[in-house]
Amino acid sequence: MMMSTIPTPEPLLEVNGLKVAYGAVEALKGVDLSVARGQIVTLLGANGAGKSSTLNALVGLAGKKAGRVVFDGQDISAMAPEQIVRRGMTLTPEGRRIFPSLTVDEHLLLGGAMHKGRGNIAEVREDMLTRFPILKERLNQKAGSLSGGEQQMLAIARSLMSSPDLLLLDEPSLGLAPQVVDLIFDLIAGLRQRGLTILLVEQNVQLSLEIADSGYVMANGRIVLSGTAAELRNSTEIQGAYLGA
Ligand code: ATP
Repeated sequence: MMMSTIPTPEPLLEVNGLKVAYGAVEALKGVDLSVARGQIVTLLGANGAGKSSTLNALVGLAGKKAGRVVFDGQDISAMAPEQIVRRGMTLTPEGRRIFPSLTVDEHLLLGGAMHKGRGNIAEVREDMLTRFPILKERLNQKAGSLSGGEQQMLAIARSLMSSPDLLLLDEPSLGLAPQVVDLIFDLIAGLRQRGLTILLVEQNVQLSLEIADSGYVMANGRIVLSGTAAELRNSTEIQGAYLGA
């Protein structure tokens, strides 16, 4: 059931009929969604619904079968991951994918080097160290010695080194203590305030609907519900399935 058409004054991302299959497993069966510039849009759903597959397919990493992805007015459906990042869309993957034996600074430089051509790496690095003071303190420490929350910040900072316009965030709160989760969510809200557009996959439905402008709910590879964050918070489906009402 669609609750309402989400108002998209200027969509930065438009996805139509996105299908992904892993061998015989049809993970996405035709996903349509749109993300307006400057907003936080959240993608919710049970384990295995297809949220990660959606994010991965958007950056060219999943076994995409069909569908059209238009980003910033351009059809990027057939582009390789590095071309997509260079155009301004980047993914902070589930599980953070930190390299334990590399230092914090090496992660930042890697993030910048992989995505060169979108601004001055040294300047962006300075900006990251201002935005993430804890990373500045730990700059020459091996990333494996960071706490879970610090690793999540590092994973986000590494993504931001490409100066994206759209950040895809996959389960940033995974495995973190409640206070740390609050910290990460404050950080995400702060990124939006600075103009970043965010597509957020989260298990923490309550928190994500607090910071999001709108959202989609997935089940079995399809979008089954969508609306503004307020509409979703008040929907009986969401309350029953996720908010324990
Ligand atoms: P979770 O929150 O558990 O990560 P999700 O909503 O992100 O779930 P996906 O990870 O996208 O869901 O998985 C969607 C479906 O595709 C699931 O049935 C999953 O088992 C399957 N799947 C995902 N990745 C692969 C893969 N590499 N090979 C085979 N099947 C996969």
